Amino acid sequence: MNSMNVIRGRPRGHAMINRDKLYIDGSWTRSTGTDQIMVEDPKNGQIIGSVPDGTLADVDAAVSAARKSFSIWSESSVEHRIEVLTNLSESFKARSDTLAEVITMEVGTPIEYSKIAMVGTPRVVAKSYAKLLDSYQWESQIRNSLIVKEPIGVCGFITPWNFPLHQIIGKVAPAIAAGCTMILKPSREAPLNAFLLADMLHEIGLPNGVFNLVSGRGSSVGSRLSSHPGVDMISFTGSTNAGVKVTEQAAESVKRVTLELGGKSANVILEDADLSKAIKSSISACFANSGQTCSALTRLIVPESRISEIIPLVKERVEGYKVGDPMNPSTKCGPMVSSEQKESVLEYINSGIEEGAELIAGGPDPIEGLEDGYFVRPTAFSGVLPSMRIWKEEIFGPVLSITTYTSEEEALLLANDSDYGLSGGVWSEDIDRAITFARKMKTGQISVNGGPFNVSAPFGGYKKSGNGRELGIHGFEEFLEVKSIQKPIER
Ligand code: NAD
Repeated sequence: MNSMNVIRGRPRGHAMINRDKLYIDGSWTRSTGTDQIMVEDPKNGQIIGSVPDGTLADVDAAVSAARKSFSIWSESSVEHRIEVLTNLSESFKARSDTLAEVITMEVGTPIEYSKIAMVGTPRVVAKSYAKLLDSYQWESQIRNSLIVKEPIGVCGFITPWNFPLHQIIGKVAPAIAAGCTMILKPSREAPLNAFLLADMLHEIGLPNGVFNLVSGRGSSVGSRLSSHPGVDMISFTGSTNAGVKVTEQAAESVKRVTLELGGKSANVILEDADLSKAIKSSISACFANSGQTCSALTRLIVPESRISEIIPLVKERVEGYKVGDPMNPSTKCGPMVSSEQKESVLEYINSGIEEGAELIAGGPDPIEGLEDGYFVRPTAFSGVLPSMRIWKEEIFGPVLSITTYTSEEEALLLANDSDYGLSGGVWSEDIDRAITFARKMKTGQISVNGGPFNVSAPFGGYKKSGNGRELGIHGFEEFLEVKSIQKPIER
């Protein structure tokens, strides 16, 4: 049924995962091209698998399959969609260990975190859309008008590598729920999990053509999907630069474009905060997934009056953040996803030192015993100025930048001093004071006193962090068109 070709024994006892076919119209289909994209394990640089380097003709075939199946899937019953989403969630449970291991191998995410965030969250998201459909009102009345909501059509999904399956399910689950059909182009770095998802959707009997998978490069497959006249909507997650290109490519066909882009989020500790709780949580909020998280809280804004208490707490936590083999359950920080990513993070760390920030933990030196992989020391700087690159730019690695304020007004100015606006945090013993501060932050999602991620709350960015929202009802409605049917007024 699937195209998995397993070559045993490489690397270190793990099977190679070579997928040589694309999933189009419900079948594993050979690409019209012959090239394969190699997938690396970032902990040692070894090749662990490969996927097809899809072509423009492959995209065209997938779009026509999705167009054909849209007329059927858009008319499917809500009960059928609920059944598919429930079965998908169950399938996540059944395959949870394999999915977590594959993502840990291709991204380098520590295994215990993979189980929760890379597999557990997508399982709950799929289930959340089955629940949402249970009570969703597709029609309403405004005076003499009947308001009808309909699936938007064929959707193209372009996704990144950092939380690969979570970002895919944040698009696939609401699209299935809405009655849309879709073509997914996963990232080049971490595509293997998308092939496992295609296996799962096939096994649970999703009708042919509803979900199609074309792996490949952004410049070919991604660009063709964005500009394709047969695609009604593009949902993109990735860097702001690529998001701008996707928007330009999509403009001529006037399709809907939603964008989940980069971030440089602020975490503000107000003067009355409980520091030991705040620092413990703030370190995880910056360094989770080895700092490769779009919503990472990478700018820590603290009262000048408490900096001498804060620095030792940060130093101790960051230095204790265990770096190592991501398959080891006690590892907290794995490698960067690729050698380019490692070099880019090291360049930022060096720029912080050169621009005069004070290095309080970590730094650019290699880690003994981990020289083969793309590891970087968890790093923290204090005395960071708003003019520095490490304050302004998204680093996408384990680097925390700390600065101080002398008034709450200044703290707010610093928090909002960013081209981005994806996430944020505020800490205070007075919850109302923290919420008042949160209301003034120009960002899409804010955690108060470490308040946890909620899969049903809208997620998305202000400013250059994007357009549109994912998750919950807000994410669902991105996949709908709204029609007004004006009825005659009875006199
Ligand atoms: P990236 O922009 O390099 O790639 C993302 C996807 O876009 C990949 O599939 C890539 O092949 C494709 N792509 C690249 N150029 C393209 C083009 N011209 N046309 C069409 N597709 C193209 O990003 P990345 O390195 O994979 O991921 C890291 C970035 O993603 C970070 O900036 C991070 O903040 C962002 N991100 C945002 C969110 C969010 O929800 N806001 C979530 C995760 C990651």
